[in-house]
Amino acid sequence: FAPWNDPEARPYIVFENVTKRFGDFTAVNDLSLDIYEREFFALLGASGCGKSTLLRMLAGFEEPTSGRILLEGQDLRGIPPYRRPVNMMFQSYALFPHMTVEANIAFGLKQDGMPKADIEARVAEMLKLVRLEQFARRKPHQLSGGQRQRVALARSVAKRPKVLLLDEPLGALDKKLREATQFELMDLQQELGLTFVVVTHDQEEAMTMADRIAIMDKGQVMQVATPAEVYEAPTSRFVADFVGNVNMLEGTVAERSEKTATITGASGARIVVENAGDAAAGSEVAFAIRPEKIKVSSRPPAAGVPNVMEGEIWDLAYLGDMTVYHVKLSDGQVVKASALNSARITEDQLSWNDKAWISFAPDAGVVLTR
Ligand code: ATP
Repeated sequence: FAPWNDPEARPYIVFENVTKRFGDFTAVNDLSLDIYEREFFALLGASGCGKSTLLRMLAGFEEPTSGRILLEGQDLRGIPPYRRPVNMMFQSYALFPHMTVEANIAFGLKQDGMPKADIEARVAEMLKLVRLEQFARRKPHQLSGGQRQRVALARSVAKRPKVLLLDEPLGALDKKLREATQFELMDLQQELGLTFVVVTHDQEEAMTMADRIAIMDKGQVMQVATPAEVYEAPTSRFVADFVGNVNMLEGTVAERSEKTATITGASGARIVVENAGDAAAGSEVAFAIRPEKIKVSSRPPAAGVPNVMEGEIWDLAYLGDMTVYHVKLSDGQVVKASALNSARITEDQLSWNDKAWISFAPDAGVVLTR
């Protein structure tokens, strides 16, 4: 076994040019993707992008129209769901309301004909895993939402699948509980040593839990990368915009050197930036930069500070941990900037309509050509 970030690692689950059509609608479009053993992998995308369909094909509830899905090198086509070493946990949890917690967890094991003593031992182990030993005799309606979620989880890992698929696993929980449960899921995944594939439309959830994220749009994968790469080095406008807040400084590459690109905006403002990839002189690009990478000040920065633009504070919002500024530049463009309030003691206080200057380092964002 080699973990996903080991160069020796070999793909465990492979989607190979997978297409899924429903009538004349293409839900998944010629998609290829590798997932590694014991990886916590997230499929992230807006409603309708095809992420659930992808998961359902892996589970065997749907077959691809074309292309292949391999698990440990084996083509899964034609293998019914119950014979795949894969289990799926649904958002609704699908617990049996008339059965106790332990009966719910035991259900699949019984169906498989596991001996009674083994079932009891496995159920006890699962109850311990999700810390529900005290609740074994309760029915689902006597549990909180978080506890029901843990029963569903215990039930779906009781049969020791190799891969656990989770479709919006925390969607029914409130924000606080969801955040706590994200960390529990990560711990559990580590403890069990299973491969988790989770579908979510919640970027924070994907960023928190996943080793790698596939960002999906219209049945295709736009980028597969670690949470940090997705945020710091998006490869397209779509991904930059989908994950977190971003400013797109649009312009034309006026000059190009090996390390830097000079970009001229519509109003003639020039910025000099790095991370320009293969953006050639003359091409239309956007410099994508996160709000926290832009510095706002009430005085013009010292001579020599790169990428300075003048404007005024158009809007500002105090959010507790940070303050968000909307700075309207002289060309009318509004740039979002943010600063941690823990740093504010030493910073100047800005308010509405104040004159302000923004500045940013050449490597504070990435140049995007698509
Ligand atoms: P959501 O988060 O809303 O579940 P999703 O990204 O998971 O969205 P899918 O459920 O994979 O999206 O659906 C992708 C597209 O395929 C949607 O437009 C959906 O309407 C369509 N679709 C899914 N299943 C079927 C089906 N059985 N018959 C027809 N169209 C379907």
